[in-house]
Amino acid sequence: MYMKTEMIKIDQQQINIEKIRKAAKWIREKELVAFPTETVYGLGANGLDPEASAKIYAAKGRPSDNPLILHISKQEQIEPLVMEIPQAAKKAMDAFWPGPMTIILKKSEIVPMQTTGGLQTVAIRMPNHPIALALITESGCPIAAPSANTSGRPSPTRAEHVYEDMSGKIPCILDGGMVGIGIESTIIDFSNEKPMILRPGWITQDMLEEVVGMPVAIDPAVLDSRKTAGIAPKAPGMKYKHYAPKADLILVSGSEKDVIEYINQKIEERHLQGQTVGVIGTDETVSFYRGDVVMSIGKRNSDQTIAHHLYDVLRKFDHEEVNIIYSQVFESGKNGFAIMNRLTKAAGYERVEV
Ligand code: AMP
Ligand code: MG
Repeated sequence: MYMKTEMIKIDQQQINIEKIRKAAKWIREKELVAFPTETVYGLGANGLDPEASAKIYAAKGRPSDNPLILHISKQEQIEPLVMEIPQAAKKAMDAFWPGPMTIILKKSEIVPMQTTGGLQTVAIRMPNHPIALALITESGCPIAAPSANTSGRPSPTRAEHVYEDMSGKIPCILDGGMVGIGIESTIIDFSNEKPMILRPGWITQDMLEEVVGMPVAIDPAVLDSRKTAGIAPKAPGMKYKHYAPKADLILVSGSEKDVIEYINQKIEERHLQGQTVGVIGTDETVSFYRGDVVMSIGKRNSDQTIAHHLYDVLRKFDHEEVNIIYSQVFESGKNGFAIMNRLTKAAGYERVEV
């Protein structure tokens, strides 16, 4: 069904509660509302209502076995949703909530299978964003919300990105401007004895280990940055093609000088074939590339600016006429692992070492 999508601008410093109430009313009426969090924009619905959750899958074109994350606004709201809260999970919640960490626990009866993609576990997060928290509180239910993009596309970091994908499919978007972090939450599974990171994010393995006081493993499928042939990731969503721009993307790693030389040589070859070429570099390197469209993802030594711009840059290329995009790799810093996890998938594991 086609509906008009209303953009509702909200100032996160000074929240207009009437606007939040309008959006919360849609949630109570089993409709979808897109809203900003500190990581990316979410596509929210009442997470305890199977009919409402089903609409998320339909709007995104999301496979039904890819579970959703339940968002809460107060720590005690987790209790009715889970069977038990292990000590280690409690410590992580106390340290990192509200914040970019999603935890997986055994689900209680009240969480429908439609929300968990048929699993007996449930993913829960308390976002650190005043608009998200206000919406959850006003709605009076946990809000199931995956990233507000069409399945497979880069996650939205601006309300305009949500509009590109969801216009005509949802009644409203709460526009809180560009998000802060820019990549999705760290997912950590506490449903087994040994905690395990299923998706890397801003909260790192070191940060978690320090707080929970025990070793935290990383899902082997995530560690393997090459083809994950034969290793099924434990977060079902991580097995799908993801985050991808429309043009093919190829990653090039090596010394900066070699990478620039290699990419410029490829540009020349592609031009001879009549193709147009995009390049993703940094503030320090963009002026050296002879591509048709060259974009900077941020500063070389600032993994935070790189994470912040990653999806915006990938989406910008969808508005350009390029046949192929070459990108440097951005492995350094605390966020390097999470950035490369997303970028590697966006490139369909296409990577050249020079
Ligand atoms: P998104 O909100 O689009 O970032 O997607 C949510 C991610 O959380 C997907 O990769 C899901 O597979 C993962 N996820 C949600 N619930 C669970 C769960 N119970 N067990 C493992 N992974 C989960
Ligand atoms: Mg997503």
